Amino acid sequence: MDDLRLAAPVQMDSIVDGPGVRMVIWTQGCHHGCLGCHNPQTHDIHGGILVAQADVIKEIEQASLQTGLTLSGGEPFLQAKPLIPIVKAAKKRGWNIWAYSGFTIEELMAHPEQTSLLECIDVLVDGKFIKAQKDYRLKFKGSKNQRIIDVQASLLKQRLIYSSYDKENQLL
Ligand code: SF4
Repeated sequence: MDDLRLAAPVQMDSIVDGPGVRMVIWTQGCHHGCLGCHNPQTHDIHGGILVAQADVIKEIEQASLQTGLTLSGGEPFLQAKPLIPIVKAAKKRGWNIWAYSGFTIEELMAHPEQTSLLECIDVLVDGKFIKAQKDYRLKFKGSKNQRIIDVQASLLKQRLIYSSYDKENQLL
């Protein structure tokens, strides 16, 4: 099984990285270089800690009270392959899956491996963080350009469909 490079041990009980109570995987490594990034310590692709995929799956299987899994970072889609079995284990528990990415959904869909991870995800918050479009009132995203996308509906209809979680943001 593949190891994952994470910025920190898996986090439980987050109430800010999507709806409900969530486990969060903070991946290590990001090349997007967004000005004003809140997590610059996650950029180095050689930094962070190596964690066995099997150990993360075990944490999912043994977790209580969590209702979802969020992939964040760093850039999670740089580790799409080792993340797929982890996301599948979370889905088996009935959790909803969110992912944050500096890539747009269109960019992700141009790559088969990243598309395979995308296919396991319910909600994607996509695009780079743009400091000039930052707004503290935004829910679940940092800047206005980012989109909260209903991935499964978008894949089914082959066009971009926003998640209902982005509705309030679009009124700002
Ligand atoms: S994609 Fe996220 S982690 Fe990467 S530089 Fe941009 S804000 Fe930071």
